[in-house]
Amino acid sequence: MERISVERGAALLLERVKPLARWEKISPAQAPGRVLWESVTAKLDTPPFDRSPLDGYALRSVDAVGAEPEKPARLVLGEAVGPGTAVPVSTGSPIPAGADCVVKVEDTRRDGDAVLVCIAPAHWENYVFRGEDMPVGRTIFPVGTRMDWTHVAALAAQGVTALAAAARPKVGVLPTGGELVPAGAPLPSSGIYDANGPMLCARLQALGMEPVAFPPVGDDAELLAGRVRAALAKCDFLLTTGGVSVGAEDAMPRAAELLGAEVLFHGLAVRPGSPAMAFLAEGKPVLALSGNPFASLAVFEAVGRPALEKLAGMEGALPGRMTLPLAEGLPASQVRRFIRAVRTPEGRVCPAAGGHSSGMVWSLAGCDCLIDRSPGPALEPGSPVPLLIL
Ligand code: AMP
Ligand code: MG
Repeated sequence: MERISVERGAALLLERVKPLARWEKISPAQAPGRVLWESVTAKLDTPPFDRSPLDGYALRSVDAVGAEPEKPARLVLGEAVGPGTAVPVSTGSPIPAGADCVVKVEDTRRDGDAVLVCIAPAHWENYVFRGEDMPVGRTIFPVGTRMDWTHVAALAAQGVTALAAAARPKVGVLPTGGELVPAGAPLPSSGIYDANGPMLCARLQALGMEPVAFPPVGDDAELLAGRVRAALAKCDFLLTTGGVSVGAEDAMPRAAELLGAEVLFHGLAVRPGSPAMAFLAEGKPVLALSGNPFASLAVFEAVGRPALEKLAGMEGALPGRMTLPLAEGLPASQVRRFIRAVRTPEGRVCPAAGGHSSGMVWSLAGCDCLIDRSPGPALEPGSPVPLLIL
């Protein structure tokens, strides 16, 4: 198959993924990372009563017209607001009926059982209306909202105890490669520890998905086909890494054939990660990523993540994108590249320190974006480059 653009690959996979039809009840504390299955509507006015935003006196503004420090208005203190009578209030306390403003303590002087108002208040000054934050009946968060911690206060203030969230997609992670050794096992000569499995599971967790880790499998097409089939029975979407290229060892294309899979694409015009393949088997999507850890991550972000977000009910969600100027130059490149990088406090983007080869893992630590570098001549510091936010 011919190499296609990352965008085309992402679109081919996206159009074959349907949002999950499962949901569950969660508490507001569990909201971060979850997607609303039903809208949340305000069941009560928040705040539930007209309240004072500060310590002071509630009164009728007509009773202090023209007040100034040399010519204060004198109001008697009482339990109810009426003509010539003010009521002390504190921050957050209800404003008594009849008042249309609150004068802050700093703008008054006490005079026995009266208060001297030294600055004339305006109508509705320092007055918080019942329901001005969230009026009863308002849709506060529509269906499909991707919640994070910033949504929790509003849910809690509404007294919500349970809400309907889309189920988290179960995403299988199956590393392939005869050289792979799971953590905890001794390392034979020419063996390496599986880095992709734990990395992708951690990434999925951070995206609000439910990772399902499968142990590494060797480079045998029949064995691999069996493991893919078994994994698909336990998840909604499967990620594999390794063995997807065209070498003699690369068992994934043959395994896809054995599974009778419908291949969506095989080969992307990007580095690293160009051998990636996507197919449907057992009615479920599989994204087969190449084995080098950074290659698998970059293609996962650009192609896998939009599909998973659709599966999770985040309709139309795309990885965050922005453009920032380079903090340092980049050499010429004949191909499109994803480059691991960090955004700086000065609003620039800096390629990660350390090696950039796709097999290196150390320099990924602490990165927060990928530079999406199109083919072309060397780039000067300050050149704007598009980013994919991790
Ligand atoms: P492959 O895509 O199978 O040709 O693998 C490319 C490179 O990535 C090889 O050096 C593999 O040893 C390495 N690799 C493959 N899978 C993993 C993994 N799960 N963790 C770390 N390195 C891997
Ligand atoms: Mg391999």
